[in-house]
Amino acid sequence: MSGIYIHIPFCSKRCNYCDFYLITNLNVIDKFILNLKIEISLSGESYTQNQFDTIFFGGGTPSVLSHNQIEEIINCLHTHFSISSDAEISMEANPEDFLDKKVSDYRSAGINRLSLGVQSFVDSELKFLTRQHTSEEAQSVINDAFKYFDNINLDIIYSLPSQSKTDLDFSLSKAIELGIKHISAYTLTYEEKTVLYKSLQKNLVKRNPDLLEAELYSFVSEKLISNGYDHYEVSNFAKKNYQCRHNLKYWQYENYLGLGPSAHSFFNNTRWNNFRDIVKYNASIEKNILPVEELYEVSKDQRHLEFIMLSLRSGGIDFEKYKNLFNVNFK
Ligand code: SF4
Repeated sequence: MSGIYIHIPFCSKRCNYCDFYLITNLNVIDKFILNLKIEISLSGESYTQNQFDTIFFGGGTPSVLSHNQIEEIINCLHTHFSISSDAEISMEANPEDFLDKKVSDYRSAGINRLSLGVQSFVDSELKFLTRQHTSEEAQSVINDAFKYFDNINLDIIYSLPSQSKTDLDFSLSKAIELGIKHISAYTLTYEEKTVLYKSLQKNLVKRNPDLLEAELYSFVSEKLISNGYDHYEVSNFAKKNYQCRHNLKYWQYENYLGLGPSAHSFFNNTRWNNFRDIVKYNASIEKNILPVEELYEVSKDQRHLEFIMLSLRSGGIDFEKYKNLFNVNFK
């Protein structure tokens, strides 16, 4: 079974640490959806023999789209791809989007797993990360979301400059107390070209030393494991039966198709990426050409390495699968 990733390249504002491909001009959403549907129909022609059991709306912030727009995209995927009836359909969302939109509407639109960009339950940390919600707003959205979704992930960012263990503990404890089934906990990274990176260069912020970051990593891992979460990937923790089926496709070296600007795909040993530019993306689709910027076949040597690297990042090396894939005994 394969997965489909849809990149929704819109956010109402860019956070200071973010280097994902996105734009903040929400006026072009309608045009984007029109072109995304064309991309779905064009690529669907090549996958008539494949079955898909996960769809992941990432971004950007997919929840800037209305529930009707999300439903339109899901319906289009059903028209052009063979999607399993029990498919996991995830959507990334920001808490502030549910202050004026109903979370229940997205459930009715077909989403069955919600991934909320909460990042922290400490207001000063949210402010540092230039997020647009408060801790209280996030908690109220989560409580409301639980009425319609059982499968909820929270993204948490830690190792902020001068973050205390007590504050990190507070955020993790809050997530546990709220009954969250899946937590993706990432250390803060300083990506070139971001506002945060510039602040680092100007010595306005101080990056944590590696040793402290490692200590915090162990702290997160121990805290979540002792509360019943399985540490199933470097940055991911889940209660039993709540692992993210879509993300497992990346780590278990399965096929996935990425649609939308900057999306990456890996299918039948070929890897490619779409234009990381909505203007080029639209121009290509308007000529009825798939918006692929670069495509290459992954060599056998490279595949061996990738399989091992991804396995070590998650559940360990599956020797049986290795033998089936490469026709050679790992040992
Ligand atoms: S909401 Fe997420 S995708 Fe959007 S700018 Fe912030 S970190 Fe980046």
